[in-house]
Amino acid sequence: MKLEVGKLLYQGKAKDVYETDHPDQVMVKFRDDITAGDGQKKDKIGKKGYYNSIISAKFFLLLAEEGVETQYLDLPEPGYMLCKKLEMIPLEVIARNVAAGSLVRRFPFQEGQELDPPLIQMDFKNDEYHDPMLNDDIAKALGIVTQDDLDYIRRVTLKINKILKNFLESKGLMFPDFKIEYGRDKEGNIVLGDEISPDTCRFWDRETCDILDKDLFRKGESGVIEAYRRVAEIILDEDDLEKWSLDPE
Ligand code: UDP
Repeated sequence: MKLEVGKLLYQGKAKDVYETDHPDQVMVKFRDDITAGDGQKKDKIGKKGYYNSIISAKFFLLLAEEGVETQYLDLPEPGYMLCKKLEMIPLEVIARNVAAGSLVRRFPFQEGQELDPPLIQMDFKNDEYHDPMLNDDIAKALGIVTQDDLDYIRRVTLKINKILKNFLESKGLMFPDFKIEYGRDKEGNIVLGDEISPDTCRFWDRETCDILDKDLFRKGESGVIEAYRRVAEIILDEDDLEKWSLDPE
């Protein structure tokens, strides 16, 4: 590890969270590990952490410009994101513009069917229970959130969807769906955390219909890292590319 970090606080499936010398900040290391199918399928893909960190940083910066509060503070080097420390809320908040994935497996939607207005779905983030879908009453009864929290999360998620969808469409990408997570800062404010990357979103090339996300890994196809690099290439501008190379050593 090149960067100086403190004690390991938490290890997830694809990221590690370290203490820093500032009590309200953590360093998130984006690892190359990739998992799918409830953790059944596992591998390591070189440079994935690198690309996911710069893609997430780009999206967080874009959202901050539009007034969405995020956990992002800095990317001291690709792979390592300095973040505001949050108490994470165990919800996977999914927004969908086009039917794909589990929605098509579980309900009679056609793959590729447009969803207008977009759908918001919330899953309980819990490995032991395999992340079941929940509703407002269940989330409140679990004591995770209040109705006001849910209303706020829903409103902010729709705003995030609008910002990212417009941005991606302007770059020739379709944005069928994505998953985000929120946490609470020490003042109790709900803040966007985690990551926004090809591990947690679907990106389809509008012209070629190429899949540019983790579905390639889920389906056992080749070219996973090339697709992640392509997303970075599409969304980063010249200023970003001066800071973050597309072809790290
Ligand atoms: N997703 C995620 N983590 C999960 C489950 C889903 O990041 O544990 C993302 C996934 O990449 C997709 C969106 O949430 O962009 C919707 O996923 P879906 O429910 O269709 O499930 P999947 O097809 O991944 O099983």
